[in-house]
Amino acid sequence: MPYVKLPDGTVAHVKVAARPGPQCVAMQDSGRRCLKRSKYQCDYRLPSGATCDVHLCGDHARTMGPDRHYCPPHFQMDCQQQHRKLFTALGR
Ligand SMILES: [Zn+2]
Ligand SMILES: [Zn+2]
Repeated sequence: MPYVKLPDGTVAHVKVAARPGPQCVAMQDSGRRCLKRSKYQCDYRLPSGATCDVHLCGDHARTMGPDRHYCPPHFQMDCQQQHRKLFTALGR
């Protein structure tokens, strides 16, 4: 913890700025991460049974239901899976 000595000899404790909270990890078209303040985490269920849990801002979280959000890549994956199921059901 940093301390500064004041001219009158007293030692003041410098408050370290609070670390910024989790930031949105979504990639933007420019290829850079969004880094806006995270409001959601991806609820996509991974094969391991854990959830993806990446942080997402309100712009990048894809709402899948009440209190259920996906990151953009998992949203796309889920769409593809739904489509495949549909095709399978149709006999393709
Ligand atoms: Zn974002
Ligand atoms: Zn995800």
